[in-house]
Amino acid sequence: MPLDSLRLRQDFPILARQINGKPLIYFDNAASSQKPKQVVETMLHYYYHSHANVHRGAHTLSVEATDLYEAARGKLARFINAPEAESVIFTRNTTEAMNLIAYSWGMENLKAGDEIIIDYAEHHANIVPWHFVAAKTGAVIKAIKLGRDFRLDMTDFEALLSKRTRVVSVAHMSNVLGVIHPIKSLAQKAHDAGAIMIADGAQAAPHVKVDVQDLGVDFYTLSGHKMCGPTGAGALWGKAELLRGMPPFLGGGEMIRKVAIDTSSYADIPNRFEAGTPNIAEAIALGAAADYLESIGMDAIFEHDQELTRYALERLKTLEGLELYGPEGDDRGGIIPFNIKGVHPHDVATALDQEGIAIRAGHHCAQPLMKHLGVQSTARASFYFYNSFAEVDKFVEVVAKTRDFFAQFA
Ligand code: PMP
Repeated sequence: MPLDSLRLRQDFPILARQINGKPLIYFDNAASSQKPKQVVETMLHYYYHSHANVHRGAHTLSVEATDLYEAARGKLARFINAPEAESVIFTRNTTEAMNLIAYSWGMENLKAGDEIIIDYAEHHANIVPWHFVAAKTGAVIKAIKLGRDFRLDMTDFEALLSKRTRVVSVAHMSNVLGVIHPIKSLAQKAHDAGAIMIADGAQAAPHVKVDVQDLGVDFYTLSGHKMCGPTGAGALWGKAELLRGMPPFLGGGEMIRKVAIDTSSYADIPNRFEAGTPNIAEAIALGAAADYLESIGMDAIFEHDQELTRYALERLKTLEGLELYGPEGDDRGGIIPFNIKGVHPHDVATALDQEGIAIRAGHHCAQPLMKHLGVQSTARASFYFYNSFAEVDKFVEVVAKTRDFFAQFA
C-alpha cells in the first residue's frame, strides 16, 4: 500500500519549520535524515527514567538500561534479518564500522600482494581505511569501473577477480548516483574466488529492505542517523564465526574476560568490539528508529523513494542546461545528483536555500567518483518517505529559476 507522506510528516516537528521565510523542503536525506518524535521521545524517556551504565551494576536501573540496550540490538538484528543478535555490534556510525573491519579483519588477514576490490563510486569511508591496511600489509587496492550507464561494469569486476582477491567491499547503494549495486551477485562471485564480501549499507539500510542472509555478505555496516535514528549510533553486522576469529579493535573496559598487568583475554561477541561505555541512549533510540521504519514498511518506503525519483527525473530532464547523473530503472534509489551548466553547485545550493530547500553540494566524500565523472562536484537532492510530489514540483521550479538567474551572467 502506498504510504501517506503528509500524515507521516506530522511525526517530524522540524519539517514544520520555515527557512528564509519559506516552508522547509528537506532534500538532504542522504547526508542525514530527520528524526520522528517516537525516536526523540524514546531517548528522553530513557534519560528521564532508566539511565545507568550497562552490563555493570547489580542495581535496578543498570539492569533496566542493559535490558533496553540489548533489546535495541535485537531490534536491529531483526531489521536486517541477522541470524542472531550478538553478531550486531554497535558502533558510532558506518565510518567506525568500516574501520573496525579494516583494522580488525584486514590487518590480521591480509598480506603483501593480496587484493582488495572496491569500485569508483565508493564513499571515502570504504576507501581510506583500506589505504591504512594496504600501507601496513602491502595489500593492493583495485577498483571496478563504472559503465556508461553509471552501473558497475560486471565484466570488469570478473576480470579483476583472481585467487589474490581477499576482499570485495562495495556500497549497497551509492550515496551519489543512487544506484543499488547487485550485492548478492557480487557476493557469490567474491566467495567463488575465495574472498569475503562487505556491503556498506549507509544509504541502503534507511531505504531498502535489508536481509543480510539473503544478500550473502560477510559484513554489513550502517549509520543510525540516516535512518531516523540519532547521531552517534550505527552498527556492524558480521558473520558470527568471522567476528569470533577477529582481534578487538579498541581495548578497555567491557571487552575483556581477564586482565593481568602484562596480558588480557577477550570477551565473546558482541562485547569484544564494544570497549568502554557505549552510546546507550543513542543505541536504544536506534532500536526505536528500526521499529518506526518497520511500522511504515521498508517496501513502501522504497516504492515512495522510487516514485518521487522517477517523477523528479521526468521533470528535470525537460530543463535545458542541466546535467543529470545516475541510471534510470528499478535499481535506483531516491538520490539525484545534478549540475546546472556553468554554475557552481555551491551557488545552486545557496540559491535553493533562499527558497527553503535544503540540498547538498560538493564532492560527497566520493572524490574518485567525481574524477570518474569529470566534475569537481555536484549538487544532490535526496528524498525520504516524508517528502511529497508537491515538494518536487517546487524544487524543479526553483532549479529552473536558478538556472535562468545565472544565465544572465553567462
Ligand atoms: N558510506 C556511504 C555510502 C555514505 O553515504 C556515508 C555517509 N555519507 C558513509 C559511508 C559514512 O557514514 P557516516 O558519516 O555516518 O559514518
